[in-house]
Amino acid sequence: AHDVKTVGRLGGGDRDGKMSEIKKKIQSILPGGDWNPLYDTSHLPPESSDVVIVGGGVLGLSVAYWLKKLEKPRGAIRVLVVERDHTYSRASTVLSVGGIRQQFSVPENVQLSLFSIDFLRNINEYLAVADDPPLDIQFNPSGYLLLASEKGAAIMENNVKVQRQEGAKVCLMSPEQLRNKFPWINTEGVALASYGMEHEGWFDPWCLLQGLRRKVQSMGVLFCRGEVTRFMSSSNLMKTASGEEVNLKRIHEVHVKIDQSLEYQPVECAIVINAAGAWSGQVAELAGIGKGPPGTLQGTKLPVELRKRYVYLWHCPQGPGLETPFVIDPSGTYFRREGLGHNYLGGCSPTEEEEPDPGNLEVDHDFFQDRVWPPLAQRVPAFETLKVRSAWAGYYDYNTFDQNGVVGPHPLVINMYFATGFSGHGLQQAPAVGRAVAEMVLEGHFQTINLSSFLFSRFYSGEKVQEHNII
Ligand SMILES: Cc1cc2nc3c(=O)[nH]c(=O)nc-3n(C[C@H](O)[C@H](O)[C@H](O)COP(=O)(O)OP(=O)(O)OC[C@H]3O[C@@H](n4cnc5c(N)ncnc54)[C@H](O)[C@@H]3O)c2cc1C
Repeated sequence: AHDVKTVGRLGGGDRDGKMSEIKKKIQSILPGGDWNPLYDTSHLPPESSDVVIVGGGVLGLSVAYWLKKLEKPRGAIRVLVVERDHTYSRASTVLSVGGIRQQFSVPENVQLSLFSIDFLRNINEYLAVADDPPLDIQFNPSGYLLLASEKGAAIMENNVKVQRQEGAKVCLMSPEQLRNKFPWINTEGVALASYGMEHEGWFDPWCLLQGLRRKVQSMGVLFCRGEVTRFMSSSNLMKTASGEEVNLKRIHEVHVKIDQSLEYQPVECAIVINAAGAWSGQVAELAGIGKGPPGTLQGTKLPVELRKRYVYLWHCPQGPGLETPFVIDPSGTYFRREGLGHNYLGGCSPTEEEEPDPGNLEVDHDFFQDRVWPPLAQRVPAFETLKVRSAWAGYYDYNTFDQNGVVGPHPLVINMYFATGFSGHGLQQAPAVGRAVAEMVLEGHFQTINLSSFLFSRFYSGEKVQEHNII
């Protein structure tokens, strides 16, 4: 699932090869020297596009899909996706572990995941392309099993109530019920467990990304290999209701630095979508967001940062069998069984003090020994004998304010819309978030799921989305 070598499937290499063959043939027929009859400009962006999406990860592509799906009349809007790395070597989407669950505590998060699971389970109703084989995202249904200590039991009970109210099927288990169902778990320190009865599991993020890409291309979305480095805007001084003087901005041009070149191309646009994942805080800064006196709306930053997370793969001959769900321990450690045999995947989020340096994607193997393994072996005694086989690191698009998504327009840079900040759960919510952002752009309000509490303005007003189930 994480084999970046498969990138060739994007067709870039094939196309370049074919182009150079054709060029050679033409040059051999034509008289003259270095004249290049077919300078390939397909990598250049158009001069203008109604919507420019910064970032071609799962969130950017989902917004592109829903804009084209919901536009009226068909073909009404021109959408351009600008992605600087077509190998996606550092993108969160392809480095994630592909899990989807309904077990959140905030109703909006449950609703987002409920819609997304419907999308994923009926993927060909959404992403099928004429004459292409059906998409298989390798969905592996398996409930998440969340464990709570005495301290967390009441919160867990309350969360499950919310999940059921929203239509998710989740059951609660006492330690005794837990022992009966999963005898390999040591229930010491566990007061309560919740288990997803349906619509949970994991899938291949790379397949979803490719499926979205194939589909949006068939719908006429344009792609450009380059980096957004600058926004040109016009501005107006205004006063807010509270008397704060603010600079209301509208972006009218995006500068795209072309891949492997010093050249940049301006693209005129009406709407910009910031779907730059872990880098979306930087993209917001390019648009002037957060540049103002601290404590003011003008000075409020998009609090999304790079945070490095490790995933380890291990083998354990005596490990639990086929029925293993995705287990999340109160210590923050998680694991699940991978594929056939006794291979497992898991990790844990470091504490604030332990945050690794995000400067590179190297894996800290001591972190597994010191922080991940002890609670794993305590919870599943068979894991005493595990052997780590491989590991990788990826970036969370980490929202330092409340670890939840940021969706919808910026209050001052009025034509920049966000689809970012989902920290550890952006992949699974992407289908629903893309739809929400497209509704906002096309209709001016959320139509299917009300995500008003996920708007940027909360960073100024201080109202956090209080999600208890952040992993
Ligand atoms: C280890 C790990 C495990 C995870 N597990 C899960 C999970 O089980 N379930 C789940 O739902 N989520 C999970 N996540 C989170 C999930 O992967 C992310 O929330 C989600 O993929 C974010 O998607 P994105 O499109 O915003 O970001 P990305 O996939 O990072 O895409 C953003 C893109 O923007 C591009 N970009 C940035 N700046 C610019 C610029 N200036 N110009 C042009 N392009 C630019 C980047 O190159 C990048 O490709 C996990 C993440 C990690 C790291």
